[in-house]
Formats: sequence, structure tokens, C-alpha cells
Amino acid sequence: MRRKIVAGNWKMNGSRGLVENLVGYVRSELPSLDNGVEAVIIPPALYIGDVTSLAGAQIAVGVQNVARWDSGAYTGEVSAAMARDCGCRYALVGHSERRQLFAETDAVVAEKVTQLLSQGVVAIVCVGETLAEREAGQAEEVVATQVRKGLGNVSGSEWQKIVVAYEPVWAIGTGKTATSSDAQAMHQSIRSVLSDMGAPAEAISLLYGGSVKADNAAALFAEPDIDGGLIGGASLVATDFMSICQAMPAGPER
Ligand code: PEP
Repeated sequence: MRRKIVAGNWKMNGSRGLVENLVGYVRSELPSLDNGVEAVIIPPALYIGDVTSLAGAQIAVGVQNVARWDSGAYTGEVSAAMARDCGCRYALVGHSERRQLFAETDAVVAEKVTQLLSQGVVAIVCVGETLAEREAGQAEEVVATQVRKGLGNVSGSEWQKIVVAYEPVWAIGTGKTATSSDAQAMHQSIRSVLSDMGAPAEAISLLYGGSVKADNAAALFAEPDIDGGLIGGASLVATDFMSICQAMPAGPER
């Protein structure tokens, strides 16, 4: 059985005012949903304390990045232990912006996953192909390699702390979304790679990300292997984020 998750990645956006308005709104509206969705808010690290103090038990909090080291002389970095200490249940790893702008390779992703697992923080590991890779017919292989390498050190019960987010790079922040059937096909392929790796693939939540909006979320979430979404732009608008949470089909788990 898999958790159904809608996670909002604020990226480098937001303010204390947004935290107050958006978290307050989601907190007041979420109890009216009966679809078992877990809402996760992933603000810039400086706002994690503000979000956790407003969020209440029903909203989970995540961090957008952690260091690949335990602690020490790494100015500007935030550790997995700090994420846990400050109440983060989730952390993003390997977002395409981190891969493209901060040289986050699959090897670095694997190190960060190890850090998070050592602290019991759930790693949302982002994978996805570029447009050129898709057009060259390499999408499935590129994504499979990212999954195999990024999660190469995970074993046994650690899989319970892994979520994979498929985010085609060409769909992030562009307004272009994968069709729900293309997204489903990639999710099915990821699940089969996980199974080949010895993971309990049917128990691992797989999220889709890339221009998910209130009007396309329901079609994506209706697919059998899409267990939720990682939402960028639309997660900054309280009513849009709630509508996406609402788009999840009913039932406690998958
Ligand atoms: C993201 O940042 O992970 C993302 C999917 O962004 P957007 O929804 O804006 O495409």
C-alpha cells in the first residue's frame, strides 16, 4: 500500500506573509478532504520553523536540499540531522535545478540519500529526462540510470523512507505537462526498475512533477502508478495547491 502525497516545492520563493496565508489556509481546508492525501510543504530552509509552527499535525514539512556530509565546516549547508531536528519529515534530493545549476550528480544524490536515511527523513528523489533525451528516445534509460545510481545504496527497510518523483525536465516551470499516459508509462517503468533492484516496488510512492495545475491533476492522479504530485509554481497559490490536493481520488491508500 502506498501513501498518496501532494508536495509543494516553493523553490526560492515566498515570504513570512505567504507562510502565514498559505499554511493557514491549507490547515483550515485540509480536514474537509476525505481522500487520504498527505500534503507536504517544502519552503526555503529559512522558513521551515515558521511553517512547522503553523502546520499542525496534518501538514508535513520538507526541506529542498541537504548536505552530503554529516556536519562541520561546510558554510551555507544544512544537514539531514538538522532537517530532522527542525521537524522535516521529507527532503528533496536531485531536483533538476540542483542537477543543472549545482552539479548534483547521481553519486551526490546517493550520498544525500544515505544522509537522510541515517536520520529517518524520507528522501523524495527526483529523476527526469531532458527534451533532447526524450527526442532521442533515451528517456526511459536516462531515468532508469538515475534511479539505479541515486538509490544504489538503499536496502531492506530503508525503502520505506524512499519516494521517487518523476519530473521531465522539459515540463518543469514551462507549462508543458507530460500526457497522463506518457507519465503513467514512465512511472510503470520506474516501478519495474525498483523491483529489479530488489525494492518493494509496489509499496513505494511515485510522484509526477512538471507543470501540474488544478486542471490537469485529476487526470494524472487517476493513473494507477501515479501516487501524487510534486508541485512547483501552483504550490505558491493556496487555492490552487488545495485544488490539487482535492484532485486525488478517494480511498486511504493505493
Ligand atoms: C518543481 O519544481 O518540482 C516543479 C514541478 O515545478 P512546476 O510545477 O512549476 O513545473
